[in-house]
Amino acid sequence: MDERYQLQVRDRLAKMQLEIQQILGAVGDPGRNVRLVAVTKYIGVDEVRDLEQAGITDAGENRWQVARAKVVELPQLHWHFIGPIQRNKARHIARHFKWVHSVDRWELAEDLSKYAQEFGNTLNVMLQVNISGEAQKSGVMPEDVASLLTDCTEFRGIAIKGLMGIATNTDNDDQLRQEFRLLRALRDDLQNRIGVHLPELSMGMSEDYPIALEEGATMIRIGRKLVLKEGLAL
Ligand SMILES: *Cc1c(COP(=O)(O)O)cnc(C)c1O
Repeated sequence: MDERYQLQVRDRLAKMQLEIQQILGAVGDPGRNVRLVAVTKYIGVDEVRDLEQAGITDAGENRWQVARAKVVELPQLHWHFIGPIQRNKARHIARHFKWVHSVDRWELAEDLSKYAQEFGNTLNVMLQVNISGEAQKSGVMPEDVASLLTDCTEFRGIAIKGLMGIATNTDNDDQLRQEFRLLRALRDDLQNRIGVHLPELSMGMSEDYPIALEEGATMIRIGRKLVLKEGLAL
């Protein structure tokens, strides 16, 4: 237990929660429920315990091997899987995670559905969309998300809650805003055309979450800005 680190995180968390409320107020949506997911891939089990002491309830990981010890030791946290999924890890993920943000093909949804039922869980799933247009990035292409969603709605044991996107790594605010807008427009269009309820938009990381919040994010995935230990470089 590291009390100095706990205080640091508590302070960052309070500032960030205030900033979130200010942004939501400024865009006329003060009642929106925003879930802050602390991305813990940079830290170990002990630090994640400190985060919990500091008030974190939701934690995100992008690789099973890195997540394993933490999710096993701290099952009381709400765990979010946010990275590319190899099919041979789907069983572990369905067992230990409550949310999966990164489903981008139906075979994966089928695997998660099978294992979630095996463990008697309902997994909350977001479909990841490639909003940056970069070919090497994961995510279903925007034009293919409707058919993926239709294919996935029948699977039991998983509940499709919304869309996730990772914006281009750039400091061009206009470009970031356009990419987040695209994700929101896709979500709105799917709700209207297919008639499913998709309340969640998982978008925004340490460098771009204020713009994501302005454009409708309901979940932000924050790593470096929240969890790094002061004086410790990456
Ligand atoms: C690492 C990661 C984050 C957090 O990134 P930071 O820049 O450290 O806030 C968010 N989303 C995904 C998918 C990640 O892999």
